Amino acid sequence: MAKVHITELVLRDGHQSLIATRMQTADMLPICSTLDSIGFWSLEAWGGATFDACVRFLREDPWQRLRQLRRALPNTRIQMLLRGQNLLGYRNYSDDVVRAFVQKSADNGVDVFRIFDAMNDLRNLRVSVEAVKAAGKHAEGTVCYTTSPVHDIPHFVELARGLAGMGCDTIAIKDMAGLLTPYTAFELVRAIRAATDLPVHTHSHATSGLAHMTHLKAVEAGATLIDTCVGAFAEGASHPTTQSLVAALAGTEYDTGLSLPQIEEVSAYFKEVRKKYWQFESAFTGTDTRVLINQVPGGMISNLAVTPTSQIVGTQAALNVMTGARYKSVTNEVKLYLQGRYGQAPGHVNEEVRKMAIGDLEVTTGRPADLLGDELDKLRGEIESLAKSDEDVLTYAMFPEIGKTWLQERAAGSLKPEQLLPPGSAELANAPRYAADEFKITLHGETYHIKLSGSGHADAAQRPYFVSIDGITEEVLVEALNEVAVSTGGDSAPRKTAAAPTAPGQKPRPSHPGHVTAAMPGTVVDVLVSIGQNVKAGDGVLVIEAMKMENEVQAPIAGVVISIYAKKGDAVTPDMALVEIQPE
Ligand code: MN
Repeated sequence: MAKVHITELVLRDGHQSLIATRMQTADMLPICSTLDSIGFWSLEAWGGATFDACVRFLREDPWQRLRQLRRALPNTRIQMLLRGQNLLGYRNYSDDVVRAFVQKSADNGVDVFRIFDAMNDLRNLRVSVEAVKAAGKHAEGTVCYTTSPVHDIPHFVELARGLAGMGCDTIAIKDMAGLLTPYTAFELVRAIRAATDLPVHTHSHATSGLAHMTHLKAVEAGATLIDTCVGAFAEGASHPTTQSLVAALAGTEYDTGLSLPQIEEVSAYFKEVRKKYWQFESAFTGTDTRVLINQVPGGMISNLAVTPTSQIVGTQAALNVMTGARYKSVTNEVKLYLQGRYGQAPGHVNEEVRKMAIGDLEVTTGRPADLLGDELDKLRGEIESLAKSDEDVLTYAMFPEIGKTWLQERAAGSLKPEQLLPPGSAELANAPRYAADEFKITLHGETYHIKLSGSGHADAAQRPYFVSIDGITEEVLVEALNEVAVSTGGDSAPRKTAAAPTAPGQKPRPSHPGHVTAAMPGTVVDVLVSIGQNVKAGDGVLVIEAMKMENEVQAPIAGVVISIYAKKGDAVTPDMALVEIQPE
C-alpha cells in the first residue's frame, strides 16, 4: 500500500501560478479520463483564483466547470482551495453565505475543502469547517506558513491543534512563497503529527528551489500527503514536478505506487496546451532565490490581480516607494487590516504606523464576520432578475460588479472569452514600450533617478518593467488603462499608445500644488468632495482603485475645491489633474 499520496495541482495551482489562471475548461476535459485513472489522492481543480478568472476573463460559469469536471473524474477526489470566511471573494461574508457556498460546492462536486485564512485567525475558519463537516465532506484545515519573529514552530503547532479541535480531517501546511526549508519542514511536520495525530499534507511552491527537498524531509517526518504538479506546469512559481517526486519515492517505504508513464502522458498533453496560453506566461519561470528575502508568494508573481492578501502588502509597498514616503498614502485595505477587520494580526502592530494610517478609528478585536448580519436573502433580492439558481446568486456575491456583468451578458447571449493570441502573433511584439529608458522624476519635491533595465511578458493587461530607482532594482507592473490600438487597416498597421487622457482638455496636466493626482494608474471609485467645499491638507478627496486596491487620495494643500475633473468610473493616470484646490 502506498505510504505517500499525491495531490495533483495542474487543474488549479499549476496554471494559476504560471499562466495567470487562464486555462479553459475545454483544455482540461480531454485528459480527465487519464488523470482519473492514475490514482492521485485528489485533484486540486477548483477555488483559489479559478472562480474569479472564469468569470472575469474566460467568461465561463465556474459552477458549470465544477460539474463538468465532476462528471469527467468519477474516481478521484476533487479538491478546492477556500479562503475561510472570504470564500472566493475579497471580503468577509456572513455565516449564512459561507454555509450556502460550501453546501453548493459540495453539491456540485467538491470532496476535499482546503480551508485557510491569510491571517491564520482560526475564528475565520470555524464556520466553513463546520459547513464542510455538515455536508459530509473532507475538511482540510490549513496553517499558512511564513517566517517572522512570531511565526515559530510552537505558534504553528498551536494553530494545528486548534484546527484538529474543530474537527478537521487533515492538516495542510501551505507554504505559498516557498519559504519553508527542508529541516524546518521536518521539525514542523513531526511536531504537528505529535500534537494532533492527523495526516499532514504539504503544499510548497518551487519558487525558491527548496520545495523538492522540503517535501522529502516532510515525508521522512511523517507527512503522507504532498502536492505536486505534472512537469508541463511545474517548477518556477508553481510546484515540484509530480514525476520527480514519484521517482524519488519509488521503491522506498514511501512509494506512491503511481505509474510514471501515465503521468508522463498527462504532462505531454499539457505541454501542448500551455503553448496556447503563451501570452500569459510569467516572466519568472526559473528559480528565484530573491523570494527568500522579499517573501513574495508564487501566485502573486504571475498574477498580481487575484491574490488578495499579498496584493495588500505589495500595493502598499509600491505606494511607499512611488509616493516617496512610507505610509503617506495608505490603501483602504491596509486601513481595514489595522482596524482588525480581517482578523487578529499574528504579532504586535506598530502603534505609530497604525496611528498614521487610521488615526483614532475604532479597532475591532472580535471575529470580523460577527459584525455582519445574514445577507443571503438580500443578495438574492438584488440579483433576482438575472440569477437562475443559488449558484448564480453566489457568483454575484463573490464579485458584485463582474459577476453581475457576467450574468447580464449570459442573459443577452453575448459572453465572449478574452482572445488568445495565435503563437508568434505580432500583437505582443508590437506592444508599446517606453521610448526613454532613463529619466529623472521629481515627486513631491524629491528627485529620483530612474533607469529602465527591461520588461517581461504582459499578463493580459499588466506588463512588468524592471527599473532601478536610485540604483536599487525594482519590479513595477504597468497597466496601460488608456492604451488604444489605432488600426488603419492591414496587419502591419502600427499600434499607437495614446499619451493623452481621454478627451483632450478634460483633465489638465497637473501644474500646481493644488492639483490632486493619483499615485498610480487606476479607476475612480468615488469622489468625496464637491465644488466650493473647504478642505484641509490630508482630507480625503477621491478614492482610486489601482491594482485591485482602493486608495484614498488626499488633498495636498488646504483650500477650496474649485474644479473636479474626475468622475466615478474614469480611468486615470498620474499625468492627470483630477481635482483642483485653490489655496485660501
Ligand atoms: Mn499555492
